[in-house]
Amino acid sequence: MQNGAYTLRAQTISPSLTLPAHASMLTGTCPAKHIVRWNEYVPENGFALGADIFDLAHASGLRTVIVAGKEKLRQVTEPGSTDFFGFIDTTDKVKDITTIENMAIGQIREGFGLMLMHFPDGDLAGHENGWMSRAQLRAYKNDDRSLGLLLDVMKDGGIYDDALIIVTSDHGGHDTTHGTELPGDMTIPWIVSGPRIAPGELETQVYIMDTAATIAFALGLPIPPDWDGAPVYEAFGMPYDASRLGGCPGVTP
Ligand SMILES: [Zn+2]
Repeated sequence: MQNGAYTLRAQTISPSLTLPAHASMLTGTCPAKHIVRWNEYVPENGFALGADIFDLAHASGLRTVIVAGKEKLRQVTEPGSTDFFGFIDTTDKVKDITTIENMAIGQIREGFGLMLMHFPDGDLAGHENGWMSRAQLRAYKNDDRSLGLLLDVMKDGGIYDDALIIVTSDHGGHDTTHGTELPGDMTIPWIVSGPRIAPGELETQVYIMDTAATIAFALGLPIPPDWDGAPVYEAFGMPYDASRLGGCPGVTP
């Protein structure tokens, strides 16, 4: 946040659940188009519909990587669109940040064009101890240290200076749950840092679908016309459309 562009009032989609929200983050569309409304690993349901950012990046020749805490994230994009997909947990219960960290370090060293690193422990701590509880904040502190380590590996590999880093969430939470349209569940941080980024707080109302569009814009990939998200141009110091409605039909932030 100190050297990037950011907002702490970006909005996820409804239902504010892990798999539907990650699908919107990466397909650039609302659930009506990607159709992922389930939140478990259900292989027979297939994959999020539409051209997602991994499809586009992989088709353009970039090495694409997903390192995830949960196997269900496999369903956000087809296996053919990721050069590497690794996960640590089939139960949604294991807290093993070291394994996932080592997996990510290995992938960073191999080099990538697009990488998603998913940190599962904040959500797990929220379900066990409550949103914004001490235990959850401790989990996020560990994630922050972990992210710092990954950035150091990028610096060592000489790929940090050219990299666009987005730090965001799939959903918020309240009490020990999430999934509703309550502001606590819907509101997420959205932080971007890297070359061409104009630092400071964003006025743009950012939606989770804008993440895919912003990545496409940064990579110079054409944005599919049916995407609901748009690049967060303000983050690049460009004019933005304050009257843009954004969001998904039927959901008011
Ligand atoms: Zn959760």
